[in-house]
Amino acid sequence: MIGFNVPHLTGNELKYIEEAVRQNVQLSGNGPFTKRCQQFFEQKYGFRKCLLTTSCTDALEMAALLCDIGPGDEVIVPSYTFVSSALAFVRQGARIVFADSRSDNPNLDVEKIEDLITPRTKVIVPVHYAGMACDMGRIRELARKHGLWVVEDAAQAIDSCYQGKPLGGFGHLAAFSFHETKNIISGEGGMLVVNDERFIRRAEILWEKGTNRAEFFRGEVNKYGWVDVGSSFLPSEMTAAFLWAQLEQLEDIQSKRKQLWDHYHRLLEPLAEAGFISLPAIPDYATNNAHMFYIVCKSLEERSALIRYLKENGVQAVFHYLSLHSSPYYVDKHDGRALPCCDHYADCLVRLPMYYDLTTGQVETVCSLIQGFYKKK
Ligand SMILES: *Cc1c(COP(=O)(O)O)cnc(C)c1O
Repeated sequence: MIGFNVPHLTGNELKYIEEAVRQNVQLSGNGPFTKRCQQFFEQKYGFRKCLLTTSCTDALEMAALLCDIGPGDEVIVPSYTFVSSALAFVRQGARIVFADSRSDNPNLDVEKIEDLITPRTKVIVPVHYAGMACDMGRIRELARKHGLWVVEDAAQAIDSCYQGKPLGGFGHLAAFSFHETKNIISGEGGMLVVNDERFIRRAEILWEKGTNRAEFFRGEVNKYGWVDVGSSFLPSEMTAAFLWAQLEQLEDIQSKRKQLWDHYHRLLEPLAEAGFISLPAIPDYATNNAHMFYIVCKSLEERSALIRYLKENGVQAVFHYLSLHSSPYYVDKHDGRALPCCDHYADCLVRLPMYYDLTTGQVETVCSLIQGFYKKK
């Protein structure tokens, strides 16, 4: 059986966890491994300030708090995304105005956003699907024109760029995930990126349960106490130690994944050219971080048949998001607009096995099965 995702271990995870435990400096959060991971991102990608969190969902919740979201506020989110992109804002009382996807890739269609902006709109949440950049130039232009915050959901977008600049560096705030299904993992884990200076002080306070503990440890205040709302958003040093073992191998992990992605693309191109399937369209301004390899079928029936066929032949391929605007929780709250491109991906997109330890031989097996499936039709 070729599984859909197998978490990759670099080999140093237990060693660093042991180090964290043995040194006995600090087992709770914001210790040496946490700082090392945060600095890695700040230095490599030029992010202004990074704070590890226990998940990307947590980082998005911090973003919703930082943007002071409350009842009556509207937040623009693509409907084709994971629940958390919307949920973090819904918890603060926001109404979600769902945006449709582009016709050539699942990212939100910037041409259709401006019509959704009202005097109540406070935030736009671009989600870089499969690690491929949204049109950040246009999104930032709209945000400036209408005075909106931009919160990038960069959960899948580690080490990927828009016009040569790393994703996660465009929004006032951005959120990454290290969930075991992502390129770089720590089991559960995430990170908030604060690019706008104005949010830094408050972000640290929200992160540490509403206290100014971080300022105290830097010696900026002589005692710390309860100064704001917040939560326990920071992970323990064991999680950060695991993450560090992964970050050390980032280049290797990325180059292996890209090799596999390119192999898929090369082998499936003839089927796409013959019009059977569509392959991911990477816009000129975007790079590919090989987070995911997906194909888009012609119909729900065809996709179900393909997934079944692959399963019968020992390959686990999976569909992805169900449209959030028609989810049981939100369908009654949605304004009723049809979002046809989003529904199309919900019905027709299939993700193929993609993980570090997959072999090129296995990629070939998957691709010949797909070719066989379409030959029979
Ligand atoms: C994985 C993912 C999340 C959630 O990440 P967690 O770390 O599991 O909270 C949010 N948004 C997108 C687009 C994701 O892919």
